[in-house]
Amino acid sequence: MPEILNHQQLTAIANEFGTPVYVYHAERIAQQYSKLQSAFKDCNARFFFACKSLTNVNVLRYMNSLGASLDCVSINEVKLGLMAGFKASDILYTPNCVDFDEILAAKELGVHINIDNISILEQFGNKFGNTYPICIRLNPHIMAGGNFKISTGHVDSKFGISIHQMRHIERVVKTTNLNVEGVHMHTGSEIKDINVFVLGLEVMLETVNHFPNLKYIDLGSGFKVPYQPGDPETEVDLLGQKVEQIFKQFEKDSGKKLEVWFEPGKYLVSQAGYFVVKANVIKQTPATVFAGVNSGFNHLIRPMMYESYHHIENISNPGGAERIYTVVGNICETDTFAWDRKLNEVREGDYLVFYNAGAYGFEMSSNFNSRLKPAEVLVKDGKSKLIRRRDEFEDLLRNQVI
Ligand SMILES: *Cc1c(COP(=O)(O)O)cnc(C)c1O
Repeated sequence: MPEILNHQQLTAIANEFGTPVYVYHAERIAQQYSKLQSAFKDCNARFFFACKSLTNVNVLRYMNSLGASLDCVSINEVKLGLMAGFKASDILYTPNCVDFDEILAAKELGVHINIDNISILEQFGNKFGNTYPICIRLNPHIMAGGNFKISTGHVDSKFGISIHQMRHIERVVKTTNLNVEGVHMHTGSEIKDINVFVLGLEVMLETVNHFPNLKYIDLGSGFKVPYQPGDPETEVDLLGQKVEQIFKQFEKDSGKKLEVWFEPGKYLVSQAGYFVVKANVIKQTPATVFAGVNSGFNHLIRPMMYESYHHIENISNPGGAERIYTVVGNICETDTFAWDRKLNEVREGDYLVFYNAGAYGFEMSSNFNSRLKPAEVLVKDGKSKLIRRRDEFEDLLRNQVI
């Protein structure tokens, strides 16, 4: 049974900390982590939490306590990771289109560096040769993912170095004497079809002969979780078996033993997160009934940005008659969380909860419309703790020079 926070617990948190509020459930995160561990128990696997999905330092510390490593896409995420207690050797830095200075800063901090551009590979090789190992992000040219905006492995993608540029990579590696310890791919988010990973792994394995010092193959992430009731979750158990078979065969053929790395974001934290808001107004129009809540796409942008579905429940009136609502926010722009959603009758003042709000929820929030960012609460061992104060008016002015 999945660990859940029930209506009473969420209502109590909303009463205590106010709304809108993001709530994260530690035990649910642990549950997803242990599912991955058991799926890949027969592989030499490591899991790097993709912290761009949720970077609150308290969550990072909790991930560290579970034994996870950390995948970072910016130098600031690296710094947050170190602050949260991760060892540099447990952090992988996977930037894209950053200034070379940022890569130098990551090197100073001693983390694993994943390079995704030949020009950077050259600069790094010229400066450091074989003195600092690196990983290379390849683009295997696999179209995958739930939405074009979150697909990163296709031919038009800015990510990675094309697998067809292997000759060029090899030239740079040879002439600058680079020490390549890993190859990496990440083809997108919300991948249902595990064959995408299998295919990608096969492409990666074909590159192994180019890099004699290889220690790991990083298959990135894109593990899908259910958003709608009945939605599938990526079958990690099946994937674990396939990956194990492929690596076993590879070991037999090549005599080499490699680690396999993954970078789950959404898979670890999405379902552990709840976003609780309050219905400000009910508005009847000739066409629909709007439930207008005290939040907007400035707090949860996924529905407007990716057309994603978040399940919503009215936790204040669970016995109310079911009616059809369009749930909208208070931003002055089209700001729809859900069209034609069946909810127990919503009254002004009721709390609504959005499920699957742990990943890319708070993290993508902004102060658009000069509204304040919500609070974050972590529930662990049955106790609720504030882990980020709600913005105050002063926060809007903090960096303004008047
Ligand atoms: C975003 C990202 C991830 C995490 O993707 P999820 O779909 O949240 O699991 C992993 N690796 C890299 C390089 C990413 O950019």
